[in-house]
Amino acid sequence: MPAQSAAYVELCGLLREAAHLASAAALLGWDQETYMPASGGAGRAEQSSLLAAIVHERRTSPRVGELIAACEADDALMKPGSETAADVREMRHDYDKVTKIPSELVAEIAKVSSQSQEVWKKAREKDDFAMFAPWLERMFALSRRKAECYGVKGELYDALLDEYEPGATSAMIEATFTPLRARLSELLGRVADDGKAPSEKPLKVKVDASRQHAFGQFILEKCGFDLAAGRLDVTTHPFCSGIGPGDTRLTTRYRDERFTDALYGTMHEMGHGLYEQGLPKAERFGQPLAGDISLGIHESQSRMWENFVGRSKAFWKWAMPHARKHLGKELGKFDAKEMFMAVNTAKPSLIRVEADEATYNLHVMVRFEIERALLNGTMKVKDVPAEWNRRYKEYLGVKVPDDRRGCLQDVHWSFGLVGYFPTYTLGNLYAAQFWEKINADIPDLQKQIAKGKFDQLKKWLNTKIHRHGRRYRAAELCRMVTGADLSADPLMRHLESRAQAVYGL
Ligand code: ZN
Repeated sequence: MPAQSAAYVELCGLLREAAHLASAAALLGWDQETYMPASGGAGRAEQSSLLAAIVHERRTSPRVGELIAACEADDALMKPGSETAADVREMRHDYDKVTKIPSELVAEIAKVSSQSQEVWKKAREKDDFAMFAPWLERMFALSRRKAECYGVKGELYDALLDEYEPGATSAMIEATFTPLRARLSELLGRVADDGKAPSEKPLKVKVDASRQHAFGQFILEKCGFDLAAGRLDVTTHPFCSGIGPGDTRLTTRYRDERFTDALYGTMHEMGHGLYEQGLPKAERFGQPLAGDISLGIHESQSRMWENFVGRSKAFWKWAMPHARKHLGKELGKFDAKEMFMAVNTAKPSLIRVEADEATYNLHVMVRFEIERALLNGTMKVKDVPAEWNRRYKEYLGVKVPDDRRGCLQDVHWSFGLVGYFPTYTLGNLYAAQFWEKINADIPDLQKQIAKGKFDQLKKWLNTKIHRHGRRYRAAELCRMVTGADLSADPLMRHLESRAQAVYGL
């Protein structure tokens, strides 16, 4: 590493302090979802907002701005292609993002979104879109103002997308999603017309939560999640929190029926967790070089373990005897092949979070098209239910019976998360493209998985993806690792081959 300027050293120190404060806030957030007694809520809200304000003050301080400018003027530091140049590039990106939004707007968004979320809850319960419509209008107006503050050239939507997927544009997403949509619809049509649906009986075996938890822990350990540097707990909404160096926390939820929901929920969060554990936080905490690239890349890691590993034949060949041991004799009636078939059924449905691997992306596309049009002003809020329902009929072939199970189902828009949805599908696309490359680089990977060996896979992910932090943008990383731009082809090849194995197409 070249001798580093005093400005860079001071800057990294300030950002590290801010990251430690944010990390303390993340720990409070985790505690709130897991172990905090209900009566602690009011005090916790004060602690959290106070800490958030301090973190914001630290990250937007004029000193940070001065130091970034000093680093940018330092040619040795900014040598093209160097780690430090990438680090400073991303520091500038973050600093501009947090300083461009006036604090009045931040406060207004916070206030309106918490009210809007309350209204959304009631509107969804009552299946009353008209009740929520004015709030949706306000949230999109605020999102538009925020996007204008960012001042991105081109579509306003891109400015919001950039918060979650730096460097991505709506044009690029549209170019990838459009061919994917047509091919997915065509595949689903064939499954519906000619496919023989596999039995879902193995999923109906009842398993109590403590057994599921033990099995989850076993899977985490075997797949290489470091339980000495992380843990697994129970929450209503599963998540992964990369709290800080050496501390990555996963949560899941258990129902007696469909134990696979918790299993795949755990494997999903484990993928996020392995990414967090693979980032070079010990040395560089607070610097972009120790951060994750984007939500899309984060999701590629979770989807890979959940779907490409966890729903594979090889995985069940290895896991089935262990599943019987942990989950009970009932499962003994079924073999690995029956499990593989049962966990890979593809059925168009109404609810995104319950969708299978193939149809999930169609749910995302509906949301991407609608939020983009709402932001650009080419769609009116009052037309959202009709536009939603029309697309569900066209893309998924399902009739939406009410708005509760239609355009009111997701919480995202109620608190202004616009530009977030596409990252779910980007995650699936990146996962598929990485997966093809991994299998080319490790030709006997499926045999390894069938023996419960995951160390080479984990090492590949650590060295090719995790250890770079945010040195590369997602599109660049994809080209570097796979030799090609992001494409719909690998995901379609994966889904086609699963459909062939499960539905005999
Ligand atoms: Zn995820």
